[in-house]
Amino acid sequence: LSDRLQGIFSGLKSKGRLTEQDIDSAMREIRMALLEADVNFKVVKSFIRSAKERCLTAEVMDSLTPAQNVIKVVLDELTRLLGENDAKLTLSSRIPNVIMLVGLQGSGKTTAAAKLAYLLKGKGHSPLLVACDVYRPAAADQLQTLGDEMGVKVYRGDGQDPVKIASEGVRFAIDNLRDVVIVDTAGRLHVDEDMMAEAEAIKEAVTPDEILMVVDAMTGQDVVNVAQAFAERVEFDGVIMSKMDGDARGGGALSLKQVTGKPIKFISAGEKPDSLEEFHPDRMAKRILGMGDVISFIETASKIRADEIEAETAERMQRAQLNLNDFLEMKKQVKKMGGVSKLISALPGGDKAMASGQVDESALDRMETIIFSMTKKEREHPDILNGSRRARIARGAGVTVQDVNQVMKQYNETKKMMRKMMPAMEAMEGGRGKK
Ligand code: GDP
Ligand code: MG
Repeated sequence: LSDRLQGIFSGLKSKGRLTEQDIDSAMREIRMALLEADVNFKVVKSFIRSAKERCLTAEVMDSLTPAQNVIKVVLDELTRLLGENDAKLTLSSRIPNVIMLVGLQGSGKTTAAAKLAYLLKGKGHSPLLVACDVYRPAAADQLQTLGDEMGVKVYRGDGQDPVKIASEGVRFAIDNLRDVVIVDTAGRLHVDEDMMAEAEAIKEAVTPDEILMVVDAMTGQDVVNVAQAFAERVEFDGVIMSKMDGDARGGGALSLKQVTGKPIKFISAGEKPDSLEEFHPDRMAKRILGMGDVISFIETASKIRADEIEAETAERMQRAQLNLNDFLEMKKQVKKMGGVSKLISALPGGDKAMASGQVDESALDRMETIIFSMTKKEREHPDILNGSRRARIARGAGVTVQDVNQVMKQYNETKKMMRKMMPAMEAMEGGRGKK
């Protein structure tokens, strides 16, 4: 949670009744948070206006927990603007379905094409990738390599004429019983006539059921211009936001939706085949506000807690007073939820840690070993872990004292973070109860 929003939450929370001034100053902070996330200033302006209006209603102001309601209104409103329902890929009854990817060079089309194929394969389809980028040397090889990795056939044709390759690709799919064709196209560094004309020609040749524009989440403000240019010429149906594993807060998503009206359908986050995920407006809203994925992590954790996490742990999590046993329990759930890299990337600063390779999957096992080497008392009262205890634990676990310190640091940060999250979490709980 960014310090700025943290400030708003605690500022509002300490008051029983809110005044219009309170709302105003909270909105000012939220406005800054949105601008920092690279949301277009016009979009920010209209957002703030409508959010403020809703906050000033009697329902919010006169409720018993106005501060929580303000946060809920802001989140709700942002979620609504990002797309009320999760937009899905629409496949028609035509066989083969044709999906075409467009976007600037380097936006992540080829990577997304392969991941999409992987995702569809997982749903029982038999996709075919078609390599229509004939300009970049090795572009087809790149797709081929990815296709091989995911066990998906790649059609390359003569590597000369993109329109011809696309049409032949569809033909090839029919002959080889493939039910979805994914056409990877060439981008350019900037919006230009060549790229648009080519995209139009391919579109005409294969009449795609779905055209997806791939946008790099780091693009920032310029994303709106690029999207508009594509919308005018090739009228895409939805957006894939790539590189969401980076630091970008993804404010561009909000601008995109507002300006083009096209839904974001997927986010692509990382190098792994399965890192293409369906887009969830509510999670994106939290990310844009700087609340990160931590909330979804905690939500998931609290969903499974009933039968899987011990009630005591869940309760201490709620009070943000977890001890090392709870921490261990959380980590176990993390493992089930997709591994330590997913969790780490949900933590503030975690993306950077991943990028610099500080984290590896075996860290989780090491952490377990370390915590298992502690006494019951140490696990319940981590405060008593002084130097000599840490040295003993390190010896017992067969690791260095630094490793032990690292675990303690992570534990402390998780604890600190959960404490910070409390106002927002209470807001969500409160909001849910009142619906
Ligand atoms: P294209 O030119 O639009 O086809 O873009 P590519 O798919 O070749 O991607 C450009 C670069 O971005 C490559 O180095 C990819 O590995 C990288 N990339 C693509 N998608 C992602 C992603 O979701 N996360 C990260 N970290 N890198 C990505
Ligand atoms: Mg490419």
